Amino acid sequence: MRAIQRGARGAAVAEIRSILVVLELLVEDTSPSSDPVFDEATERAVRAFQQSRGLTVDGEVADETWRALDAARWRLGQRALFHTVADPYIGDDVRQLQERLLEMGYNPGRADGIYGSRTAHAVAQFQREVGLRPDGECGPATVGALRRLGRKVIGGRPQLLREAEAFRESGPTLLGKRIVIDPGHGGPDTGHVVPDGPLRWTEADLVYDLAARLEGRLAAAGMRVNLTRGPVPTNALSDRDRIQLANELGADLLISIHLDGHRNPEASGVATYHYGTVSGPTSIVGERLAGLVQREIVMRTGLRDCHTHPKTWELLRLSRMPAVRVDVGYLTSPSDRQQLVDPAFRDRVVEAMMAAVQRMYLPVEADVPTGSIDVSLLRALTAAPTS
Ligand SMILES: [Zn+2]
Repeated sequence: MRAIQRGARGAAVAEIRSILVVLELLVEDTSPSSDPVFDEATERAVRAFQQSRGLTVDGEVADETWRALDAARWRLGQRALFHTVADPYIGDDVRQLQERLLEMGYNPGRADGIYGSRTAHAVAQFQREVGLRPDGECGPATVGALRRLGRKVIGGRPQLLREAEAFRESGPTLLGKRIVIDPGHGGPDTGHVVPDGPLRWTEADLVYDLAARLEGRLAAAGMRVNLTRGPVPTNALSDRDRIQLANELGADLLISIHLDGHRNPEASGVATYHYGTVSGPTSIVGERLAGLVQREIVMRTGLRDCHTHPKTWELLRLSRMPAVRVDVGYLTSPSDRQQLVDPAFRDRVVEAMMAAVQRMYLPVEADVPTGSIDVSLLRALTAAPTS
């Protein structure tokens, strides 16, 4: 979908405005002319919506913002929900349902707003326990029972605690764990591109090189490693395709690698992102991985520290495993670029990521100071006793 932005007109703009009105971010247009325009007020409302959802705030409506807007119009109880494989129900009503089920101790998976088989299963379990027909469909009777019982249960962040517990239970060794490494962009989608004298650097190529180096190192340490794409894919891959692959593989961790870019060549540094919102729920394990990746890279490379940030990007939100995205420096910064094009520097970045992954699996009491793991010793450190 082309981004709909300031100045646009037409049916899509009318639709966007009507959703923003329902969300009380925009005052209804009562003028008799029925050709609503994407005006300044609409853009402000879109920005407020994006901010509240942890989306990139650009005031435009492209795919991800559109899907979030489309989902936001539904409130629990406004429509009957059930599991369909071909065209699943998506919306804030589904997310409310999932959050309520989680608060009550059922396990519909992460509250991703998609009515999948796990959600239907959790609904059926709830129905059985309250004496309703366990058909996995969320109609008026089920919503009523959820409303009556839901209030008695103390809220919390059980799904994220469950994720943390599952991670802890998986044990302290890297051996046999599955990690998916996602080099951003690829093929027709080059990401940031910078001409540099006769040379031309692309984000897609450099992050693929980083991913391939990391793949080799982690595989040598006994992990099962998959990349989401090859060096020169024919088609561009969406974040949804990437996350679907990681989910299908049943990965234990996901690291997505990008480079940043900005008009201003002064912008520089490394930043890492995990699932979460500023005041709401956060993936505890994802936040920890992001912190380790960020600190190890800063310590081992000297890149400027642009810190870690919670985001609800689809890549992070729809993953069933702890997932982070790291933007390893600005391709548009002459100083970052000079380092990034040096293979020895990229090796240091990869060592930092390795050390972070290793520390994820060390018990808290055995954790070590940032920058102190010698990753060349990792195999000895992580090898499980064979006798
Ligand atoms: Zn990128």
